[in-house]
Amino acid sequence: MMTKQLVISEVKDGGFRNVSFEAVGAAKMVDESAEIVGVVLGEGVSSVADELFHYGADRVISVDSDKLKEYTPEAYSQVLMQVIEQENPDGIVMGHTSIGRDITPKLASRLGSGLVSDVVAIEGGATFIRPIYSGKAFEKVEIEEGLQFFTIRPNNIPAPEKDEGKNGSAETLDVDIKDLQTVIKDVVKNTTSGVDLSEASVIVAGGRGLKSEENFKILDELADVLNAAVGASRGACDAEYCDYAMQIGQTGKVVTPDLYIAVGLSGAIQHVAGMSNSKIIVAINKDPEAEIFQIADYGIVGDLFEIVPKLTEEFKKV
Ligand code: FAD
Repeated sequence: MMTKQLVISEVKDGGFRNVSFEAVGAAKMVDESAEIVGVVLGEGVSSVADELFHYGADRVISVDSDKLKEYTPEAYSQVLMQVIEQENPDGIVMGHTSIGRDITPKLASRLGSGLVSDVVAIEGGATFIRPIYSGKAFEKVEIEEGLQFFTIRPNNIPAPEKDEGKNGSAETLDVDIKDLQTVIKDVVKNTTSGVDLSEASVIVAGGRGLKSEENFKILDELADVLNAAVGASRGACDAEYCDYAMQIGQTGKVVTPDLYIAVGLSGAIQHVAGMSNSKIIVAINKDPEAEIFQIADYGIVGDLFEIVPKLTEEFKKV
């Protein structure tokens, strides 16, 4: 029997976050023949909704409202509960982003369902692989009955190939969003990085070894050449070399890039929890005993202030 899978998408700066397309891929991995229903929330989002069809959505429901311009759990959960009640899906999938992490437990508790979070692989049907013990092990979780509700870690599940010829049914839903106790009046954007850290395929991350905010600029230069995002250890954030929005680790962002260049950071367990699933890890550290070398694929022992500018110069030539 064909199932219905609801994909809760995310729009940022006028376009879908890539994890929304990966979520369509994930829904198809659960049931290849499923009817995929995308949900798009925000202000002025109806105009971008079509792109979800190109990745395989059969229907897209847009909810367009000025009250959804910025994410608030109250407004988003009101709308999503209404969509879920209307659609009565067999499965729901969303990205394990900061919004996904916030809203999905709320929805699951209202629905009285379980939730499998931070899925990194799907073994056909509703069998999910997710990291546990800060990424030191993986567990396999099977949903035997009830709603198949899960979130996926960005950059792990491939998005379906884009097919611009594919279209579907675009629908809009009017939802009366009421009794809001929180209204976001203004958002001050973080200007530290052009590339979104949680979805970047290349990350250059710095630690306390950089020694100052000023010195972090050498990482920006390397990142520019590699079209990478710049991240940091908590040590560097605590020392005020950079913004906490850049922190990677157990209490920061969890990232899975193709290439992670760790510069002047020791590789504390709490940091490693946020980046150990990167495909290739390169570590630069002057201490040959630094823990980061235990998980690095390539290690460079030496002074970062000599090595990083040299790397930047060499990559510029490529
Ligand atoms: P350090 O450990 O001081 O390492 C600096 C490194 O730079 C050293 O290895 C040194 O050899 C190297 N170095 C110095 N100078 C040079 C040079 N010139 N060239 C090359 N190398 C050089 N940390 C996180 O990162 N993320 C988290 O999410 C996180 N969550 C935490 C949660 C809890 C509950 C706790 C208790 C801690 C958490 N931490 C987290 C902190 C973590 O334990 C470490 O303290 C922190 O990661 C250390 O940062 P660091 O590697 O930059 O600094």
